[in-house]
Order: sequence, then structure tokens, then C-alpha cells
Amino acid sequence: MTDHEGIRTLMRRGAEGDVDRRTRAELLRRLERDALRICSRFELRYRVLEAERANVTSRYGVCYSDGTIRIRLRHATTGRPLKYSSLVNTLCHELAHLRHFNHGPRFQTFYAQILEWARREGIYRPGRLGPSPAERAPVAVALARAGTPARDRAQARPPRSAEPMQLDLFR
Ligand SMILES: [Zn+2]
Repeated sequence: MTDHEGIRTLMRRGAEGDVDRRTRAELLRRLERDALRICSRFELRYRVLEAERANVTSRYGVCYSDGTIRIRLRHATTGRPLKYSSLVNTLCHELAHLRHFNHGPRFQTFYAQILEWARREGIYRPGRLGPSPAERAPVAVALARAGTPARDRAQARPPRSAEPMQLDLFR
């Protein structure tokens, strides 16, 4: 898992200090572990999970139609790492897009289902207040800005396989 291509790319690309890069790599590794558990449970498959670029501050996360998911790890203004529960919330939102490529009722139901499962599994541990609606709003805006086709990807998913999904995701 430490050799994952996405992380290596980010390590090369970063203009930040070593500590920042390590923090980012650790956050990404943890996110990927949790993403894989969720993907196994819900039979989802993404292409790559990346940290959002530092200059993109308009959104918390984005899912492209090719299965690329980007999650912003840092606060837009302070630059400090976001709470892990916020990152997981964003991750669950973007993973739900792998099945429903829109923000319709079926997406909302599926997103809530993933989030609830992640909470029961101890992956998602929201604080007392939890993420505010305002915190979620930029994600909705982001999908529209990304210019990706608003089609449901359910039909485009590969046939379900009995093989563990982890093997495919790290190729
Ligand atoms: Zn969305």
C-alpha cells in the first residue's frame, strides 16, 4: 500500500515541507484503507483516490466519471489538515457517486447508507456537532463545475465479481 502510485506522484509533486508531505501521505493511506473497506462492502470501484490540489479551494471533494476521486485534506484558509471525520464524510459522498452520478434522491439514500455503515464500523466518527450542511454544500457545487456528464454510472459498472475488490483497486 505504501507504494501506491497516487501517493508517489503526490510525494514528487509537493512543494511543501517533508512533514507536510508525510502528513498528507498518511492521511491518504488511511483514507484509502477506509475507502477499500467501503468499496468491498458496497461493491464499488474507483480508479484512483488523490488529494485535491492545494490551489483548489472551492470544494471538499470531487468524483469524475472515470472513477477518479479527489479529496481536499486541508482547510482552504488555515492550511491545517481537516478533521478526519470530515474527510471520511466527503469520501462517502464521493464513493456514493460511483453508483449514482448525480445528487438525486437515490444518491442521497445511498450516501446516507454508506455513511451509516461507516459509522457502525467505526470508520466514520463524527464529533458531537458533525459536519454542517454548509460544509457539504461546496461538494454539490463542485460536481457541476467539474463538467462531468450527469449520468448514472450504475449501468456502466463492470459485472460484479466474487474476487476481492482490493486486488483490482491497487493495480
Ligand atoms: Zn456530489
